[in-house]
Amino acid sequence: MENGGESARRPGLVITIDGPAGAGKSTAASALASRLGYACFDTGALYRAVAWVARRAGVDESDPAAMETLLASVEMRVSLERGVTRIVMNGEDVTAQLRSPAVSQSASAVAQMPQVRRWLLPVQRRQGRAGGIVAEGRDTGTCVFPDAAAKFFLEADLDTRAARRHQEASRAGHPERQGEIRRHIRERDANDQSRRAAPLKPAADAVVIDTSSLTVDQVVENMMEWIPGRS
Ligand code: C5P
Repeated sequence: MENGGESARRPGLVITIDGPAGAGKSTAASALASRLGYACFDTGALYRAVAWVARRAGVDESDPAAMETLLASVEMRVSLERGVTRIVMNGEDVTAQLRSPAVSQSASAVAQMPQVRRWLLPVQRRQGRAGGIVAEGRDTGTCVFPDAAAKFFLEADLDTRAARRHQEASRAGHPERQGEIRRHIRERDANDQSRRAAPLKPAADAVVIDTSSLTVDQVVENMMEWIPGRS
């Protein structure tokens, strides 16, 4: 089924931010987008929405044939609104249901599948056609937007990433023990880095930033120096 959702034309560049869970991508993407007056595009939400729909339909998310059949009957609409990537699946707004630990783990599993990645590629590129976005994810610089005007890859040590996710999860009402979060992050990193389809790695032309001991403002200042016409 056709999927994607159209977005209005926005002036501006396409900028990508990739990196592992908890490296600070969402925070940096949203701060950079407000600084530039751009829209923020959370591509992870698309993988989460596919995982959500598989769980809702009772489909085994590790079965590629079942996932392909499921996706053929799914319509996904994406809109970028005031810092939120809004996702409507078959007419149902699922945006608020995507952050649970169960959906996180399923998203990591569906993201391994070339069928799912292929299905999501045109949906993501459609958002980029409109310009003026900061896209964040795992392969936005390497695969989705290879011609982006500026590409960043954020890293941070495992303890810092687990502590950040712990804080986020508690705020979102999904408290998990920090040790548990650490284990989940490790598993998701291993999945993302070892998969054959679009593995997590910095693009050859990405600027790599370790955010472990930087404030959000410092990360954004650093990024601004690399954005054409903005330093
Ligand atoms: O960023 P977030 O944690 O919301 O992403 C959920 C999952 O989606 C990740 O664990 C990763 O496996 C997958 N993902 C991906 N490629 C992207 C964005 C997310 O594989 N561009």
